[in-house]
Amino acid sequence: MIKRRQYISHLADLFTRRDFLKRAAIGATALSSISDYASANSEKSSEQFKVDFPIVDYHVHLSGGFNIERAVELSKKRGIKFGIVEHHGPGYKIVNDEALEKYIEMLDNYPVYKGLQPVYPNWSKAFSKKLLYRLDYILMDALTLPEKDGNWLRIWRADTKVEDKEAFMKRYVDFNLQVLSSEPIDIFAWPTFLPACIADQYDVLWTDELMQKIIDVALKKDIAIEINEPARVPKIKFIQMAKKAGAKFAFGTDSRNDKAGKFKYCLQMAEQAGLTKKDMFVPKPEGKKAIQRKNIDS
Ligand SMILES: [Zn+2]
Repeated sequence: MIKRRQYISHLADLFTRRDFLKRAAIGATALSSISDYASANSEKSSEQFKVDFPIVDYHVHLSGGFNIERAVELSKKRGIKFGIVEHHGPGYKIVNDEALEKYIEMLDNYPVYKGLQPVYPNWSKAFSKKLLYRLDYILMDALTLPEKDGNWLRIWRADTKVEDKEAFMKRYVDFNLQVLSSEPIDIFAWPTFLPACIADQYDVLWTDELMQKIIDVALKKDIAIEINEPARVPKIKFIQMAKKAGAKFAFGTDSRNDKAGKFKYCLQMAEQAGLTKKDMFVPKPEGKKAIQRKNIDS
């Protein structure tokens, strides 16, 4: 269990998307190299977690200090495959077909999955479908909410204010459902994350009914649920409910540094919920990716 104060102080670090993993808890990997950091953990060590599936980190970003060569080297050292995701949207690198093609061709040279993490709704219109088909998967979160005035509310920011919790939850859940039902995505990232100011009320605000709504749409659209290592979401109850409903899961560190592939929360959740190979997401074969499925309105 993560203590409230620890969790809040962790969230307080989330000032920018670029820096928000600086103080993520030390993670761990299963059935792979653990000696370098096992000693830093007095709790259950990662080698005590046994899972029957290959561990993949589907949420790894590249950065100035963490380039593709370094990511691949780390992936080999950990014995964990990485999925590289880049953001799309104003202010990010992948703005058009030309940039996306360059990115895909660069990643084609390396043993990684090729992913994309769009930030804003209706993103897919910016690209030609054929190019998007070359990606292994698309991952998106619902943490950037549209405002009436055309601005965006970024709820991952530590300074996010919530005046009316009930109104916020309604708006947030509606936006979750919008992303899940309208966006052609394979993995839903940061599920059930709450702004730092109300994070301690997670168990009250996320009622079974609200959680089930998210799970039902994810399942209907065949979208996998990310278990997010640094934010430690979703919590076990959501995972158990989603597993019962037949959802798939994907581990993610949302890292852009050596934290990539370091899992502990994800492994704990997998063990507690009894996740096995059949519960885990694997990138869809050609023709079955979210962007290629007919039931997606894009
Ligand atoms: Zn990310």
